[in-house]
Amino acid sequence: MSLGAWLRNHPAALERAYLFTHRLFERLDPLFARMGYERAERLVRWPEELGKKLVFDCRMCGQCILHSTGMTCPMTCPKNLRNGPCGGVRGNGHCEVKPEMRCVWVEAYERSRAMPRFGDEIALIQPPVNRRLQGTSAWINMLTGVDARTPRGWEMGSQA
Ligand code: SF4
Repeated sequence: MSLGAWLRNHPAALERAYLFTHRLFERLDPLFARMGYERAERLVRWPEELGKKLVFDCRMCGQCILHSTGMTCPMTCPKNLRNGPCGGVRGNGHCEVKPEMRCVWVEAYERSRAMPRFGDEIALIQPPVNRRLQGTSAWINMLTGVDARTPRGWEMGSQA
């Protein structure tokens, strides 16, 4: 078993690590604002990618919702589903697309049950992922609020 897989099976510890990192970034926010978020992005992106790739097999979507999905990256679902499983989950809990792999959402649900603080957030409805943020730092996007903003052109009746 890889280190990442082992860690993902200890979601309560990952939840504490998430809380710690979240508080750390909130404290660093004034510094990032002073130096400029673009520069901060260049500084933060590579260690974020390295660490999250190792632990979560992160795909750098730029809109991290790990703490709401049982510390299981929804972008590792072959269909990139962010609101629960498709209708194709096999009887043994494996993926319709990759039969050798357990369904990401079966794992996400199981792990969420071991997360006292954010576990119930698995029931939240997530907005569509903004593909324009692909490859950017989710931590910086969280600080600037761009990850929570509805992109221009997505509103009903508007033109891109
Ligand atoms: S939700 Fe996005 S940022 Fe978070 S681990 Fe998955 S791909 Fe990476």
